[in-house]
Amino acid sequence: MVYRYDLVVRGGRVIDPRSKRDGVADIAIANGRIAAIEDSLPGVEGMRSIDARGLLVVPGLIDLHTHIYHKATAYGVDPEPVARRSGAVTLVDAGSAGYGNFAGLRDFVFASSQFRLLAYVNISYPGIFAFDRNYSFGEASIHELLSVDHCVAAVEANREIVVGVKVRLGPGTSGDIGLLALERALEAAERTGLPLMTHIGKPPPSYGEIVSRLRPGDVLTHCYRPAPNAPVDEKGLVLPALRDARERGVLFDIGHGMGAFGFQSAEEAIADGFPPDIISSDVHALCVDGPAFDLLHTMSKLLNCGLDLPQVVAMASENPARAMRRTDLGHLSVGGPADISLLEQIERRFVFTDVQGQTREGAMLLGARGSLIGGQWREAAPRDFELATQ
Ligand SMILES: [Zn+2]
Repeated sequence: MVYRYDLVVRGGRVIDPRSKRDGVADIAIANGRIAAIEDSLPGVEGMRSIDARGLLVVPGLIDLHTHIYHKATAYGVDPEPVARRSGAVTLVDAGSAGYGNFAGLRDFVFASSQFRLLAYVNISYPGIFAFDRNYSFGEASIHELLSVDHCVAAVEANREIVVGVKVRLGPGTSGDIGLLALERALEAAERTGLPLMTHIGKPPPSYGEIVSRLRPGDVLTHCYRPAPNAPVDEKGLVLPALRDARERGVLFDIGHGMGAFGFQSAEEAIADGFPPDIISSDVHALCVDGPAFDLLHTMSKLLNCGLDLPQVVAMASENPARAMRRTDLGHLSVGGPADISLLEQIERRFVFTDVQGQTREGAMLLGARGSLIGGQWREAAPRDFELATQ
């Protein structure tokens, strides 16, 4: 028998949440797609291979919440080094751009990228336009900027790269408008048949007021934010409104960022049986050097909160793909795209820090060796682990 593979990834621990595979296997790639996954594939002279022994081989990681409109926004980061250091294949910009500037995100950032870049369109005309360490002006706080018609038009003009509609809620983002911004965003999502991603900040609106309005498949990001508006009450129990929303199919996303991940919220919610659906970094210029760093660092933190490896892999691959309704992505399947991340487990003492400066000691951090996107190799960028150790 003649094997016509372009590449074989050999001997890694293959974790594919969708098929529940977790064990050493070889993956063959041909024409940008996965051609075979077997415990052991025979070698053929001249065939290219990647030695993945000792590494984790997982579906191409998806960071569902990033801000990569770099140079056009003060807080945007260049997607290239972020994707390389986090072993990610797909980065999703979460509403940096709205109707007024979406074409720039598409043509000046996405068009030249070696990675798969997708986006939520902000319900606010200019997107998130005024945010840095000293300055923050809520894009959803001005009634006239929240044009459903314009948001729908931006979606329709960019269907191939748009995965949903984004809105940010809270005193610092939607100001006095509050839930009206959510209603506008829901209307745009409804009219385009896409999911909504909503940010939760300090109240008002409250956690319950927000999630009770979300539809099946909508995403609540910053799900483990610290109080006020934490997912748990003062006894550390998950709010009933969150359980109702999950029951209905609402998805809960980490969205770490600089202000939205607290160890206490995370540990209490997980202990009360409420793990997240999705792990994302919310990486931007103000948190890329900590406390969020990137997707792998955020996944490592969740491992340290008691989740296991197959769980955190699912939360950064299969689950975000489902949230984007891109069921072609996020799994390792014969015939599917060869989007694969190669990770290492770095066993050392690490100190993890949340957004309030709370720390937890850990013994393992996930690192990136590289990724394949449609079978094309992307070497990992070195990560400065000193940043993460302290
Ligand atoms: Zn964000």
